[in-house]
Amino acid sequence: MKKKRNIKIILIFSGIFCIFLTLLIFKINLNNKQKDVWDSKLADETLTNILTQEANYVLVEHKMISSQFTQAILKNDNGTYKSYFINVKDGNLLNIEDIIKSEEQQNFKNKVHELIELKYPKFIADSLNYGNGNITYILKDTELIMYFYDFEINPKPLEELFLMIDYNEIKDYVNFPFHLKEEYERENGFTFDPTKKTVALTFDDGPNGSKTLRLVELLHQNKMHATFFMVGNRMATAPNVIKEVLKTGNEVGSHSYNHKNLTRLTKEELLEEEKSTNLIYKSITGQDLKLLRPPYGNVNDTMKQNLNLTFINWNLDTEDWRYRNTNHIYDSVINKVKDGDIILMHDLYETTIKAVEKLLPELYVRGFQVVSVSELANIKGQTLEVHKVYRSF
Ligand code: ZN
Repeated sequence: MKKKRNIKIILIFSGIFCIFLTLLIFKINLNNKQKDVWDSKLADETLTNILTQEANYVLVEHKMISSQFTQAILKNDNGTYKSYFINVKDGNLLNIEDIIKSEEQQNFKNKVHELIELKYPKFIADSLNYGNGNITYILKDTELIMYFYDFEINPKPLEELFLMIDYNEIKDYVNFPFHLKEEYERENGFTFDPTKKTVALTFDDGPNGSKTLRLVELLHQNKMHATFFMVGNRMATAPNVIKEVLKTGNEVGSHSYNHKNLTRLTKEELLEEEKSTNLIYKSITGQDLKLLRPPYGNVNDTMKQNLNLTFINWNLDTEDWRYRNTNHIYDSVINKVKDGDIILMHDLYETTIKAVEKLLPELYVRGFQVVSVSELANIKGQTLEVHKVYRSF
């Protein structure tokens, strides 16, 4: 009985010894392997301390960036990243400023600001550039990724806010080795995603001087477009407004010459309306008008058969001419808006402008792209045809 117990104890102890030996050999191997990559116990110790402190994070990657420092990337359950740059000589942590050339710090900052402004609408870009929050810098082979966390933005975007900076953009500023892609696409801030919800915004009855220009500014700040259906007899008075509307990617359509009810006109009168409106527009822009928003939305067969235009009506009416109330106009859109809508407004009223100011950022954070009518048709894979009436896509 006693002998059997002794054997048991010996077996258990030799088992434990074997495991210990295996672990020891494994550790020696690991150390040797790490020695090939970097020879810094101090960096490893720093990393161990970081991992102890950042209990909610797991280590995703720890690699040598240059002979000077390593990068440890951590991630938590929410998908939030943290990164640490560790000096291999002394194990101290480095900041982004330590890995940007000292004489190029300001140029680097300016470049980041510029790319953020290209990518994001103003209400987000301003906060990321001038507000407070946390930024995680991750160095990849051919690009630097910046993740932005906890910035105060109103309305609050649900999407992850980040910037991918190709090293081609900052090759003169960084102080570590990198690879350069031969070709790269620069951030342009206005690429349409056909899988996203998209609506067309339309403004009737202009051009209307500073009000039209203010809307153009708001659209541009939010990286959005609209179609302005203008009245022919007003166009001649505001050539510069028309040019300004077109400059930032908006579209101009006809809203007839005199804002008459076109269904009461003869064929000859209709053709005269079309001709005189187009003449003025062409003298200002060199282009022909292709779209018609019939006054009051009224269309008949005579119009459809004789006007070589595409008729664009709407399916979401804000009735901004009736309710001169910012909240009412805002609510009329935000409570009903859906993919493919054509929204009707007028560039006539201060209340409309105030509503648009509030509406555009809210549409953005709700995942809507706001575009011109032609862009909406294009995104929805439809070709606009003359003599046809469209209300939504
Ligand atoms: Zn009108």
